[in-house]
Amino acid sequence: MPRGRIRWGVPVPVAVALTLIALIAAPPASAGSPKVAAVQAALKARGLYAAEVDGVAGPLTRAAVMSFQRRKRLSVDGVAGPRTRRALGRRGRPALGSRVLAPSAVGWDVAMLQFLLWREGYSPGAIDGAMGPGTSRAVYAYQRAIGIGADGLAGPRTIRALRRGAGSHPDSPVRFYHPLNGPIGDGFGHVGGRRHTGLDFPVPGGTRIKAGGRGVVEFAGFNTGGYGNLVVLRHRLGFQSWYAHMSRIAVRPGQAVNGGTLLGWVGSTGRSTGPHLHFEVRRYGTPVNPIPYVLPGTAAYRAASGPPACAGARTPFC
Ligand SMILES: [Zn+2]
Repeated sequence: MPRGRIRWGVPVPVAVALTLIALIAAPPASAGSPKVAAVQAALKARGLYAAEVDGVAGPLTRAAVMSFQRRKRLSVDGVAGPRTRRALGRRGRPALGSRVLAPSAVGWDVAMLQFLLWREGYSPGAIDGAMGPGTSRAVYAYQRAIGIGADGLAGPRTIRALRRGAGSHPDSPVRFYHPLNGPIGDGFGHVGGRRHTGLDFPVPGGTRIKAGGRGVVEFAGFNTGGYGNLVVLRHRLGFQSWYAHMSRIAVRPGQAVNGGTLLGWVGSTGRSTGPHLHFEVRRYGTPVNPIPYVLPGTAAYRAASGPPACAGARTPFC
């Protein structure tokens, strides 16, 4: 697109400012540590940690480690070192990669495996250090996706691939196309005294809404929390995209979609004052500013130009 064209339907200086925000706000490719997740899962199993297992060593994790150390009469430093891990018993060992993980395995390595799967966008259900059917399914799906023998067992090859992030593109994280052809109205953040968790596209009712990228429909139906007719897509690397206030929905839960698949039509259902699309990007369940993840092209436009060539491409289509 030539320089100086209005690309997002906003004046060029605003577009430039948004680009700068995008550069500053882009998060690291992978957040959280598998080891921290394993500590959290072990402490959760003992009822000492109630928050989400997210691999982020925050104050709640530290407090849980300290209360465990106090209980076990270890030196209380809030760090899960070798002695603390030994005291965690079967949930503090063994090291990831020291055995092939099969159904009903329990341990430190299972929790790390579950966290790595979750980080790549293959949800094991819960990160609890116990290898149930959800974890086996996630291993199987991951193995199929990266093209290694799919047996649902996490052996050295699968673990090596997960550790180095095969199947994800750390240098090219998830990107989304615009879900429709239209200008962006309200942005992400604090808008008019309220917290806005997505981008609004104020366009006429009935405008076609396209999937911003490849994924699976996780929810398609009416949301009573204000989103109205809502479609939620699950993408890789823990990303979701949300499409709210639709007049009608065109997909069903479990359906696989590509960038450009018709999801539904713009409406004003739920908590909405007029026809618009509310578009949200969530990572590990938390709304994030979509701008760093949104490409200049629209899904509607790209879909019309035919199926993309996927060899070597790193786009939401592939
Ligand atoms: Zn909105």
